[in-house]
Amino acid sequence: MAHHIVIVGGGIGGTMTANHLVTKMYPEIRSGKVKVTLVSNSPWHYYKPAFMYVAFNSFFRDELRRSQRGLLRPEIDFQLEEVTQFDFQASKLHCRSGKTLGYDHLVVSTGCIPSPERIEGLKEGGDHFYQHAPARQLADKLATIEKGRIFITVTFPKTHNVPHQCGIAPIETTLMLDELLRKRGVRDQIEIVYTYPTVSQLLRNCLFLQKDTCEVLPTIFEQKGIKHQRGFTLERVDPDRKIAYSEEGKEESFDILMATPPIRAVQAVRDSGISQAADDEGWLPTDHETMKVVGLDNVYVLGDTVDLPVSKAGGSCHSQSPVVVNNLASEIRHGRTCDAYEGRVVAIAQMGLENGMPLWYDYQDDVKPTPPNKLGGLMRKGFNRGVYWAVARGLV
Ligand SMILES: Cc1cc2nc3c(=O)[nH]c(=O)nc-3n(C[C@H](O)[C@H](O)[C@H](O)COP(=O)(O)OP(=O)(O)OC[C@H]3O[C@@H](n4cnc5c(N)ncnc54)[C@H](O)[C@@H]3O)c2cc1C
Repeated sequence: MAHHIVIVGGGIGGTMTANHLVTKMYPEIRSGKVKVTLVSNSPWHYYKPAFMYVAFNSFFRDELRRSQRGLLRPEIDFQLEEVTQFDFQASKLHCRSGKTLGYDHLVVSTGCIPSPERIEGLKEGGDHFYQHAPARQLADKLATIEKGRIFITVTFPKTHNVPHQCGIAPIETTLMLDELLRKRGVRDQIEIVYTYPTVSQLLRNCLFLQKDTCEVLPTIFEQKGIKHQRGFTLERVDPDRKIAYSEEGKEESFDILMATPPIRAVQAVRDSGISQAADDEGWLPTDHETMKVVGLDNVYVLGDTVDLPVSKAGGSCHSQSPVVVNNLASEIRHGRTCDAYEGRVVAIAQMGLENGMPLWYDYQDDVKPTPPNKLGGLMRKGFNRGVYWAVARGLV
């Protein structure tokens, strides 16, 4: 009997997994023993990290997206549908169109959604670069501000030990901001203040979520005249008076509030009833090694929807996807899983407008920061403009 593998979500996790599966299971797919379907609610695949560059006017919409169908191998059945209900007991998906899809094996990669509305006044008073439209709005402000104060905040999910999206993004954008304002000749008139909440996963009272990076950051910021504050957990914003209030009792004024907002899983995942995440955030309970949803033997999850203690990053999907694919192939061929995720995250951080720094960490070892340089910057540019699309196609 044929095995039907259904992947929900056409972001980086879902797209690369679908393409990897076809490569790995080509004989079974050719003979009709395995069928791969990808279901996504958008005809477009967005290179989400580029939203950060949109805020700095160096990427425009058509450069950062490709047609979803065009990224998938022809053997993959692509269905443009929005899943509204996961029926894990019956192994069925219900879609907004009224269609029902059955599966033998399911992979969930539906990402996460920025939710500034979860903090009073943040949607009205703050800016962010985690989606296209807000990033465009921020770009207009950064291109025209002449003087004042740019205040940077970071909000973590309330679920213990789950990080915000792309851990390094607030640092990347703070350094990019400093260079942009210097290029514009207005840096002397604009104060930049980088802040970090009191609790960031396992560390307290720090500037980043890993210790070694925390220790080098003050020097990097001070060399550039960037002010920094520990222990600022954003509680609410007064958009009219332009004041950010912290849980620790501080009040800070701003002209631009560049915030990493709260995030949550998509509605259908939150409604599935199996998340144990705090505050209805919806992260799926994920086996740290197999990448299966805990308690559901035929369901895998990867990317931003997991509740793992690793960065919600494309650089995590890149290491998780081969584990999911190996385990699926091994289960179908030999009746058991064969691979384990080690928590690896690999990426190149954009450290300012031109420099880059490779990142590499896993469950055991934190990132060892190295001096950012132009070669790293070139690698990041190559990734942004070309290598990413090869990764999505499952070629790298
Ligand atoms: C500004 C920014 C900067 C970043 N920088 C980096 C970086 O430098 N390095 C790095 O590694 N990562 C970075 N990331 C993180 C990275 O983009 C995400 O971790 C990655 O996109 C997660 O992949 P995913 O497949 O889990 O989800 P996504 O890429 O979000 O894809 C989710 C998919 O699911 C679909 N979907 C959602 N709900 C449904 C539904 N109900 N039915 C059907 N389809 C649905 C969506 O349309 C989408 O196609 C950054 C992210 C942002 C926003």
